[in-house]
Amino acid sequence: MPIWQDYIDKAKAYHGHICGGQILGLRMSLLGLKLLGLDPYEDLRDLVIFLESDRCVADAAYVVTGVTIGRRRVKTLNYGKTAMSFLNLKNGEAYRLSVADHDRPAQDQDLIAFWTAKKDEDVFKIQKVTIKLNPGEEPGPPSRVVVCQKCGDEVMDHKDVTLNGQTLCRACAEGPYYQVL
Ligand SMILES: [Zn+2]
Ligand SMILES: [Zn+2]
Repeated sequence: MPIWQDYIDKAKAYHGHICGGQILGLRMSLLGLKLLGLDPYEDLRDLVIFLESDRCVADAAYVVTGVTIGRRRVKTLNYGKTAMSFLNLKNGEAYRLSVADHDRPAQDQDLIAFWTAKKDEDVFKIQKVTIKLNPGEEPGPPSRVVVCQKCGDEVMDHKDVTLNGQTLCRACAEGPYYQVL
């Protein structure tokens, strides 16, 4: 399978190694596109991916689809699951795929051979879903830009919070993830 080998080579170059996550992520992404009737070699400008993991599979999804966070086509949820959803913005069609097979290769087993011997329908749980993008989640120019009344940072895309009548960024409203030195 020369095309499959091409994806393996690309994943190895992009991610740094071939692991179970690469193989599952490549297959999951190819299957997601197939279910949506999309061609991985075309410009997937209407595709949005919802990643439920920030581990290996996330990189494999990029290798197959080329969609990026910066283009607002990747949403990270980090549920700690080897799972992702694929939404076609053009018609609202969406599928969520997760790994249903809890079998893992033994230490000395060949990873690629182990996973490629299994059929998609045995490895993945496929759910047809609907996904509503919240205001400010859509691709395209920012739908709203405000200035935080406490720190003065600009906040885009409805990520601001109103607290006691003040318009604030989430860091000021909820406490930041960083400590200023
Ligand atoms: Zn990996
Ligand atoms: Zn602020």
